[in-house]
Amino acid sequence: MLELLEAIFDEVKPMLGEGKVADYIPALASVDPHQFGIAICDIEGRITSIGDADVPFSIQSISKVFNLVLAMNHYGEDMWERVGCEPSGLPFNSLVQLEYEDGIPRNPFINAGALVVSDMTQSRFASPHIGMRDFVRRLSCNDNIFANKVVADSEFEHRARNAAMAYLMKAYNNFENEVEDVLHSYFNNCALEMSCVDLARATNFLANRGYSICADEQVLSPDQNRQVNALLATSGMYDEAGSFAFKVGLPGKSGVGGGVIAVVPGRFSICVFSPALNAVGNSHLGVAALTSLSKRINWSVY
Ligand code: GLU
Repeated sequence: MLELLEAIFDEVKPMLGEGKVADYIPALASVDPHQFGIAICDIEGRITSIGDADVPFSIQSISKVFNLVLAMNHYGEDMWERVGCEPSGLPFNSLVQLEYEDGIPRNPFINAGALVVSDMTQSRFASPHIGMRDFVRRLSCNDNIFANKVVADSEFEHRARNAAMAYLMKAYNNFENEVEDVLHSYFNNCALEMSCVDLARATNFLANRGYSICADEQVLSPDQNRQVNALLATSGMYDEAGSFAFKVGLPGKSGVGGGVIAVVPGRFSICVFSPALNAVGNSHLGVAALTSLSKRINWSVY
């Protein structure tokens, strides 16, 4: 496995310096773009890693996966009345579909969908962010995971667009809690800091029919696990989900902090981190590294 990572690393590393870090909040704009790490966790829980794989970074939209899993645990099939499972074909923070589709977001990985899912967990947990933080700590066997308060506060200050989505959904009766409370939980979840090693461990259940070896917990039923992987494959990579499926062919989720997770069902979970993003907001080296991985292992879900 280490030779595989070394080969990918050497192939992709010359691209460092291309792309641009997220700059919508100062705390992310100041991240060093020259970082690059990869970690793989096989379904026995063994980690192989290279580069900056132990550096914690802002998980941002990757948090949407964990929050979705928590909501699926508490709501079962009923939750799909409030959020869909279709790709959106629009930017992740778009509002337009909401008005055409009666306040039901297309999927849980665009912001509107993630906000509805956060509204669900807000209704079920006394302290939703702590519930989420403890969940990712269990999944990654690491009690040292925290949200970066500067990032969370800065996101909250720049909340206008996310707030607009949440209020629009409230107008359609698809939002139960106070918008500002849900935004606080959502931004704190986005601001969690985890490394590639943490995330490869934490997403390993997706490769293992819903069972987390770290937590020794059946996190999702095998059927639900298949549903999450299908959503990741169709909607996990912003506006690049189609070409990611074309080039990589694996369920994946990225975040604007520069992390990308991907799943090779039955074999392993993988996380790549490199903060400089491509034009659609996915980690530039992350996508390149996963493209190289899928070619080298000659395997995709398709
Ligand atoms: N915290 C970001 C937002 O809600 C998430 C960005 C992302 O990773 O997509 O705008």
